Amino acid sequence: MEKVHETVLEIDLNALKHNFQYLKTQVKPTTKILAVVKAFAYGSDSVEIANFLETLNVDYFAVAYTNEGVALRDAGVKKPILVLHPQSINFKTLIERCLEPSLYSHFVLNKFMEVAEAEKQSNYPVHIKFNTGLNRLGFEPTDVSDVVSTLKKTDSIQAKSLFSHLAASEDFNEKTFTEKQINCFKIIAESFTESIGYKPMLHLCNTSGILNYPEAHFDMVRSGIGLYGFGNSDLEDQHFTPIASLKSIISQIHTIEKGESVGYNRKFIASKQTKTATIPIGHADGIGRQYGNGKGFVTINNQQASIIGNVCMDMIMIDISDIDCQEGDEVIIFGKNPTANDFAHTANSISYEIITAISHRVKRVFLK
Ligand SMILES: *Cc1c(COP(=O)(O)O)cnc(C)c1O
Repeated sequence: MEKVHETVLEIDLNALKHNFQYLKTQVKPTTKILAVVKAFAYGSDSVEIANFLETLNVDYFAVAYTNEGVALRDAGVKKPILVLHPQSINFKTLIERCLEPSLYSHFVLNKFMEVAEAEKQSNYPVHIKFNTGLNRLGFEPTDVSDVVSTLKKTDSIQAKSLFSHLAASEDFNEKTFTEKQINCFKIIAESFTESIGYKPMLHLCNTSGILNYPEAHFDMVRSGIGLYGFGNSDLEDQHFTPIASLKSIISQIHTIEKGESVGYNRKFIASKQTKTATIPIGHADGIGRQYGNGKGFVTINNQQASIIGNVCMDMIMIDISDIDCQEGDEVIIFGKNPTANDFAHTANSISYEIITAISHRVKRVFLK
């Protein structure tokens, strides 16, 4: 791999392919796979990722918001796109761009029907979301008959799927709770299907649900974090390869004497002569202040260097006293080892948060 000359986020599409294929081995050949590409495909690049996944024949995409779906359509993405949290103000755009809404309350269901009727749609595909315990978005299990009778009153929309979301699929201490969610979803699906008279697709599992609850795959599974290389456990992490590596370089090296300070507010005071390096990445790039003052570390020539003092907007300073290195040398913040999850753990965070935080100022480079 080429050494970098500035801060870059390298995206390894071969790793993405590996993760996609591993997930496929975990489901039946007939189970559809939906790739969750919200939040710029978890901080990488939703257009590149979606285009590549289309070549691998992924079945479906999901984004959180309408504008994320519009960006994919603008880039020529053809597969169906589920918008998980559409806002009613965007319903007309959503229809114009062939995006499929998640409808999770009577308010959004009625609003969407109004717009679909005004736009003279028939059987427009929508996805009905039920709350089975996460208590975030979704109709209640007791809403089934009301939802069905609303849907029966119109030809403008049709329930293409029913779905729900697990609250703790990665946590075996919550197995009983998860099984209750699965059971609740089955009961909803049965009564809904029976009273509406056709069979919407059913889907419930996110990545950890796919790995831990094979009995709950239904017709489709939804994977985000797995595609990007994390299995939410040490055991499962071994089957995945992180697709994103955040790399930078040493801009400048200083040697400071005992008693001298480093950075804003003088938060690091040298207890002995110390060699420091300044790296061109800061909190505006997604490395939050919680990683400063000895918490986070970076890797240079396979050796760890801790982040000293406060994280600045555009830079961090690190302690390289014990590392043989020079200005211009490559610095790894995270990648295949240490991973983004390892880095996140130094400040009590998780892979999901750090990878989605890397700002657009950081250049994306794709390895194919
Ligand atoms: C984000 C999201 C997912 C993806 O979850 P992962 O744990 O990243 O696989 C799946 N379903 C819904 C509803 C989501 O919001």
